[in-house]
Amino acid sequence: MTSEASVITNIIEDMSAEERTVKDPVCRMKLDERRIKKSLVHNGRKYYFCSVGCLAEFQRHPEDYVKSAQTEGEIKDV
Ligand SMILES: [Zn+2]
Repeated sequence: MTSEASVITNIIEDMSAEERTVKDPVCRMKLDERRIKKSLVHNGRKYYFCSVGCLAEFQRHPEDYVKSAQTEGEIKDV
């Protein structure tokens, strides 16, 4: 079993300097390395979450959150 602490350490080591602050795609909270609780790779991209709850929500509707992350700043009526 991998401990929670070492998982988080590995996440941080993966991050480049400018990625030290990331955004939770579900609650849109800015996360610094101390706040990241969970991460997930979806379509080759890594997402970070403040809580298990946000991770679970992302897994329920990943396309919603991936889409909103990509089109951030340009909201369109469909
Ligand atoms: Zn969150």
